[in-house]
Amino acid sequence: MPVPGDTYSSLTLIREVGSVKHGRNNVKVWLCQCTCGRQLDVNQASLVKGEVPACKVCRRGPCVICGSEIENESFSVKRNTCSEECRKEQARRKSLKAYSKKVLKAPAHNREIYQRRLENDPAHNKERYARMKEREKDLSQEARDAIRTKRNRDSNNWRRLWLEEIKEKDPKKYQEWLRSSRKRRNEHYKKKELLSFMALSEKLKSKVKGDQDENDVTESR
Ligand SMILES: [Zn+2]
Ligand SMILES: [Zn+2]
Repeated sequence: MPVPGDTYSSLTLIREVGSVKHGRNNVKVWLCQCTCGRQLDVNQASLVKGEVPACKVCRRGPCVICGSEIENESFSVKRNTCSEECRKEQARRKSLKAYSKKVLKAPAHNREIYQRRLENDPAHNKERYARMKEREKDLSQEARDAIRTKRNRDSNNWRRLWLEEIKEKDPKKYQEWLRSSRKRRNEHYKKKELLSFMALSEKLKSKVKGDQDENDVTESR
């Protein structure tokens, strides 16, 4: 018979705290202390059979995403993430992994789907953009920024995977990509500079015009 002080896996019996119906007979319930210091009630049958080797937190182990303890009482012992955010992050990583596997197997996968879609529906891009605008219409600026950040992060991820692959397999193509990317960037900055210059000249023009108008007014007086 188990007595106080006995240990079963990580649990040490402290004292009997009652009994519970287990099948046809009653079994004792023990207050136990886990090696981590937490106390819990366990029925004797589960203890002896080894069904409850430790407290829930120890049985769950650390969160697979952030590494902290999973203390939420309502979670099952099989749960391996500590919070809704960590669960979402886990799902995201899982799908990212599955997707990159797919893309590595068939690098043209995305392009093929895209081409097929464009063939079937030439206005696809326009419609997609309109749908996106419609979806984001009622959102706050922060929510919109968050969506944009996520989108950029994902596309950066795909690009990184693709670049890593061609860097190894096709250095020529990689160099080509680097050149074109540099070119695109330069064009972007040139355009930006030009736009700011134009804005400045517009400002100056209107200022000069305003001064002239003022002079006209004073002259006519
Ligand atoms: Zn424990
Ligand atoms: Zn976590």
